[in-house]
Amino acid sequence: MNPLRKKIGIIGGGQLGRMMIEEALRLNIDFNVLDAADCPCKDLAQNHIVGKLTDADAIRKLAAISDVLTYEIEHVNVEALLQLEQEGKEIIPSPKVLQIIQDKGLQKQFFADNNIPTSKFILVETPEQWLAATNQFDNKKLVAKTRKDGYDGKGVTIFNVDEIKNDTTKIPFSQPSVIEDFVVCEKEISVMVARDREGNISTWPVVEMEFDPIANLVTFLDCPSQIDTATEKNAQQIALKTIEALNGIGVFAVELFLDKKGNILVNEIAPRPHNSGHHTIEACYTSQFEQLVRILIELPLGSTALIQPAVMMNLLGATNFSGNYTLKGLEEASAIEGVYVHLYGKRESKPMRKMGHITVLAKTLNEAKTKAKKVASIITFEKD
Ligand code: ADP
Repeated sequence: MNPLRKKIGIIGGGQLGRMMIEEALRLNIDFNVLDAADCPCKDLAQNHIVGKLTDADAIRKLAAISDVLTYEIEHVNVEALLQLEQEGKEIIPSPKVLQIIQDKGLQKQFFADNNIPTSKFILVETPEQWLAATNQFDNKKLVAKTRKDGYDGKGVTIFNVDEIKNDTTKIPFSQPSVIEDFVVCEKEISVMVARDREGNISTWPVVEMEFDPIANLVTFLDCPSQIDTATEKNAQQIALKTIEALNGIGVFAVELFLDKKGNILVNEIAPRPHNSGHHTIEACYTSQFEQLVRILIELPLGSTALIQPAVMMNLLGATNFSGNYTLKGLEEASAIEGVYVHLYGKRESKPMRKMGHITVLAKTLNEAKTKAKKVASIITFEKD
């Protein structure tokens, strides 16, 4: 039996929930999940409620069989969660925090209100507001984001002020949006933060994204980030301040831009374990998933120290097909020391779908990078 006899309910049964359950099985923790029938958690959760993450009744059913609720995705029914929280159900992180994060406009305003450094922004909706806003920026190159329902770069676009001035049909979005200054980045970095009910707080070492310059996609995530110590401390301080200002309880990713002048700007927060923390499973004493479980069942926070440098790469579905697949090169890659393959139990591959990830550990980051490049060149998705 679970020593603390707490049943955890997760809204969403995707790979993040799956990795959380994998890490918690050794503590005898029971999980309940709410998601579609064939979700990655289907064989791991003790109770699986089949339903939509937006369905208030399904969320209530999950709440009824769980002592504490969490979510592994932002796109859930926040009103239902607010109601449940008011009725006394424990939800971590609080839906009040989720409400701010779900809306990129409220999130930016929260940064501004709390003196958290972020790029200049203006909230817009009508074409008149778009045009008026573009006059407020010095730069011509701006970024537009829909306030709600964006993910993995969907609902984000770069545009030029002149384009829409000359032709308002070129306004990227008709729904409420945020316009931001385009930040010319030296690096994109991320800091994972954990905070418990008592306000104990800690960060993991800073992670750096490596981009493919042609596809503009993240290829590798490196930990520790190759930034100087002062910048690293600054990034961690800003991340801590952000989560404290939110009064957030749980595990959070704070995504940051390091600009060419050495300034750190907060891009956005994720109120859950995050892709930029997957390496913590093998590379740190306590992973992001175990840390969230510890918070949920009221165990003390574990050490977030790095055991070894790590490089993480996502296994994304091939762009040229959808359907059943074989992962070629798995044997060869698995034979390399320090290579940890994670597969998410998704039966069908789709272009760019997150099918799994691989973490590579080594004594030095350079060695891990070399090995990761080799692994990337070996592994391919092939249609069955
Ligand atoms: P999502 O929530 O879909 O991940 P983000 O806000 O993280 O959207 O934006 C996706 C990517 O777009 C970022 O990782 C970054 O590469 C780029 N981006 C977003 N905002 C800006 C900005 N203000 N300046 C420069 N690049 C940006």
